[in-house]
Amino acid sequence: TTQHTPRTALVTGAGSRRGIGRAAAHALAADGYHVAVLDVDREAADETAREVAARHGVRTLALAADVADAGAVDAAITEAEAALPSIGALVNNAGITSPVPFLGVTPGEWDKIFDVNVRGSFLVTQRVAAGMSERGFGRIVFLSSVSAERGGGVFGGVAYSAAKAGLLGFARALARELGPSGVTANCVAPGLIDTDITQGKLDDARKAAMTAEIPVRRIGGVEDVADVIAFLARPGSGYITGATYDVNGGSHIH
Ligand code: NAD
Repeated sequence: TTQHTPRTALVTGAGSRRGIGRAAAHALAADGYHVAVLDVDREAADETAREVAARHGVRTLALAADVADAGAVDAAITEAEAALPSIGALVNNAGITSPVPFLGVTPGEWDKIFDVNVRGSFLVTQRVAAGMSERGFGRIVFLSSVSAERGGGVFGGVAYSAAKAGLLGFARALARELGPSGVTANCVAPGLIDTDITQGKLDDARKAAMTAEIPVRRIGGVEDVADVIAFLARPGSGYITGATYDVNGGSHIH
């Protein structure tokens, strides 16, 4: 079933114009969720919030915060709770990647990747999950990656694969703990998706070579991922928890 109780979906990293988070914000709004758009880039968050409100007629709110900053996360979610209906869905989408080969990874690089991808998901999820538990409803989705499952090989290196694999265990353990209170936790593991996360560092020749190895013979689009996120966020998806959904065109079948 689609969403009818007025609830809010909080999507982190939803500023990025060509990103998965913005597409997810649209898909969630199309299902009737109001949307809180959280991003470290305030202007980008504003733009997504305006675009989603204009296209779907739902209420939206832009929140500027670094997901790795506990104080900023608390302040942003406090603001969302005051302005919008209760948070029913959370998409932990804010993420950064790093192609640095393992022997060149500095402790600072390692921490940066874990701060955004893992600590960020921890801070936001913990801040939101208490209310979900109390209200007896919640849908939490984590953006993992095919890199976690197959060991890098797309763009991210060891640090990224380790961080994204951390989210698989995070979601599974959380699913067990919060299942009794009506809160589900699942991962989506995208393969190569056409966004700006690689910051132009993946050239056309490399993309063409990768496409030739993908069974469906194309790079994924953000809608491919957003649809699965919205599906997992529906009230009717309450019997799915602790799962990982691959969206990779068959590039990793396991
Ligand atoms: P993107 O770079 O287009 O968007 C990421 C967004 O996160 C940006 O708006 C950025 O400002 C925001 N962000 C970064 N650091 C932040 C922080 N500290 N606090 C708050 N916001 C922050 O990336 P995307 O390709 O849309 O990726 C979205 C998610 O999907 C990421 O977690 C990524 O690791 C994952 N993913 C992407 C791919 C892919 O091929 N694009 C594949 C697998 C997994």
